[in-house]
Amino acid sequence: MEAWLSTAGADAALMDDFNAICAFGGRLSGTGQDTAAIAWALERMRATGGTVRKVQVPYDGWRAGRAELQLLGAEPRTLACRALLRSASTPDEGLVGEVLDLGQGRVEDFERAGEAVRGKIVLVRHEYPFSTTHLHRRRKYDQAVARGAIGFLIANPLPGRGVLSGSSGRPRGAAGIPAAYIDFEGSQALAAAAAAGQCQVRLVLTGEELENALADLAILDIPGGTDSRVVISAHMDGHDLGTSALDNATGVAVALAAARALAPRISARTHGLRVCFFTAEEWALTGSARYLDDMDPAERATMKLNVNLDTVAGHSELTAMISEYPALAPFVTAAAADADTTVDTYLPFMSNSDHANFARHGIPALRLTAGFNRPDSNVNNILAAGDVPAVVDEADLRNALRATCAMAWRGLSMSQEALNALTVDSKWTAAK
Ligand SMILES: [Zn+2]
Repeated sequence: MEAWLSTAGADAALMDDFNAICAFGGRLSGTGQDTAAIAWALERMRATGGTVRKVQVPYDGWRAGRAELQLLGAEPRTLACRALLRSASTPDEGLVGEVLDLGQGRVEDFERAGEAVRGKIVLVRHEYPFSTTHLHRRRKYDQAVARGAIGFLIANPLPGRGVLSGSSGRPRGAAGIPAAYIDFEGSQALAAAAAAGQCQVRLVLTGEELENALADLAILDIPGGTDSRVVISAHMDGHDLGTSALDNATGVAVALAAARALAPRISARTHGLRVCFFTAEEWALTGSARYLDDMDPAERATMKLNVNLDTVAGHSELTAMISEYPALAPFVTAAAADADTTVDTYLPFMSNSDHANFARHGIPALRLTAGFNRPDSNVNNILAAGDVPAVVDEADLRNALRATCAMAWRGLSMSQEALNALTVDSKWTAAK
């Protein structure tokens, strides 16, 4: 490994930054914690040099109110629940309905149930999000809505881990159904009642629209000798059950440290570096979507590579989801070797973080993540109360930092032709 990469990985402020980000709390957009954390990040960026800007983009703000679930019967039983972000509200007195247990809630489970879904409150299970077989919560929710369900319950599959937090993806003004996370124990109670032939519940979910809500983004630019830019991104916002340590204080802390290591290496002989911290990512990727959609196309065209850091510790193995940009596979492999590590690549497009919005705009984009196909790793604490600093191993974070620096540096120091060629054979650019 080159000496600078080894030095970069030893960054003295990495863990202080990581802990400082977690200290803001879960940083749920709309709570003010995300805004405070972005203000802090802007100061940290200023210490790196370059041009620092705060950008604000609109998003569909919302605040949760009541969340109550009761299994009805001779002895009514209260179960833990938590509204999905932007869930439709129930009437104040609640929604009473029959629960239909659809197991995992895969497409085939909905197909098998067919018309039986109509008028029911469906129960499905959350899946470990980073795997080759994962079906996203929002796809399950969309199935339930499309088939006429009146409510949606999604259960944490892990015992003793409580409820989870996540978005329904419902835009403002759009139809939707009340939707909530429940814990494993609650799903066991509902499944047992359903198997016995009688599972009626009352669900109360209320939420409040936050009009004119703005998401704060932090942007750092360090110009190089060409108009081309390599973009390192990470989302600052999170959920408020834990402190969003894995998801995504790890990504933000690594991005800051990478910027510190790369800044003195950027010159007239390299391309430029941009670092973007997004919020409203947990809100169906809205922050980065608006940032990129609303940007002048000429400026967007200068962004030639996106390295998006999201949950980069929690397991020792790293994977780059390369978003149907096949030329990124050898690029990532070579960069990982520069850093004396390995980073696997996964070609299929996964719309599970901000890289997805870069990819859609024809910008070669990858998401670096830890614990791919490792459902037993610490990464399974994301979205839960267990997402706190103690589940992050410093050695994993430093490995991710070296890999990030190596990838960004390869991009920054490539010829213009080689950088442009990262789009080769991609379905995104073929369609343009
Ligand atoms: Zn994330």
